[in-house]
Amino acid sequence: MNLSSGISYLAIPGPSVMPERVLMAMHRSAPNIYEGELVAMVPELVDRLKRVARTKHDVAIYIANGHGAWEAAVSNALSAGDHVLALATGSFAHGWAEVAQRMGVETEVLDFGQRSAVDPERLSERLRKDQDHEIKAVLAVHTDTSTGIRNDIEAIRSAIDMTGHPALFMVDCIASLGCDRFEMDAWGVDVMVAGSQKGLMTPPGLGFVYFNEKADAARNDAGLVSYYWDWRARVAPEVFYQYFGGTAPAHHLYGLREALLMIEEEGLDGIWARHAAIAEAVWAAFDHWGKEGPLQVNAPDPSIRSHSVTALLTGSAKATALREWCESRAGLTLGIGLGMAERTTPEWHHFFRLGHMGHVNAQMILGALGTVEAGLKAVGLPHRPGGALKASELFAARA
Ligand SMILES: *Cc1c(COP(=O)(O)O)cnc(C)c1O
Repeated sequence: MNLSSGISYLAIPGPSVMPERVLMAMHRSAPNIYEGELVAMVPELVDRLKRVARTKHDVAIYIANGHGAWEAAVSNALSAGDHVLALATGSFAHGWAEVAQRMGVETEVLDFGQRSAVDPERLSERLRKDQDHEIKAVLAVHTDTSTGIRNDIEAIRSAIDMTGHPALFMVDCIASLGCDRFEMDAWGVDVMVAGSQKGLMTPPGLGFVYFNEKADAARNDAGLVSYYWDWRARVAPEVFYQYFGGTAPAHHLYGLREALLMIEEEGLDGIWARHAAIAEAVWAAFDHWGKEGPLQVNAPDPSIRSHSVTALLTGSAKATALREWCESRAGLTLGIGLGMAERTTPEWHHFFRLGHMGHVNAQMILGALGTVEAGLKAVGLPHRPGGALKASELFAARA
């Protein structure tokens, strides 16, 4: 018996579910990229992109995924031999640090483990020791998608300010933009990187690098800046296609325009509240199931849990079986336990993730959680029954 035919839910933490409106906006023949509608619509799209990040500063758009945006940010702000400090709460800070390292930047990782957030105290302590200001940048990840940990960006900024250290503050919001509250200007972020395929509900393929004047001043001395990654041409193009270093990603731009319009219609406050309620429903279900048996939300403390992705520990070799059951029998695709264990080890089967970012509503989450509960039973993963009911009670109370 197979019950998977119908509308499936890709509940991996990116690429996320794409709205019909976004898909329809992209379904067209190629436009003229030199003049006309496409050229005319981009300035407004750029304004909307800034509003989503709560910034009046600049944003450069790249035809790239998140890894490309990481490289773009490093390229414009740093030189080979510069020293940077990466704050790790999961794989993604390590990933960004490795990109910088390969470009010749000396990276130092302050590791906070996989189950706690960045401790601002430890950061200040490290910065205070750097009396010659050799650290040129602090790299942080807002939501680490591998662990589901959400860092307090405002508190990290205060910790830097308290020491009077001049390092640039660079933040990866790839998994949080359009899901969790983020205020680039109010929180004093100098460089922010994002991508199209998570909270922004558009196919993978666009990378964004936001930067303020302080970061742009660093660009003057950045030895790593190259033709393609240079952010200057992209924010002040003499000709339209300089925005994109060549052919504009026309269809992605149409999709993104529609997604940004949808975000504006709902409003950022509404979007943040929806993601918060959905995340709480997910935690309510998993915390309940975990009362009997091994299931646990990876982040023990709800205040450091992301609102866009939840990483789960199963403590026994059942996570892969659960994912396979949900996908093949019921049309729900759960995420692998990224960065928690090597694929070839038994531990690989002890983790999974649920993505709840972007175009996701209460009925989708209740469907997903009801399916997970069926899967837990089907694969024999011990749990206290009734987690999905806890999630529905939470929605009843909230909505
Ligand atoms: C997805 C993700 C990335 C990487 O993006 P790609 O598009 O896969 O290169 C980087 N950082 C975070 C926090 C992410 O969630």
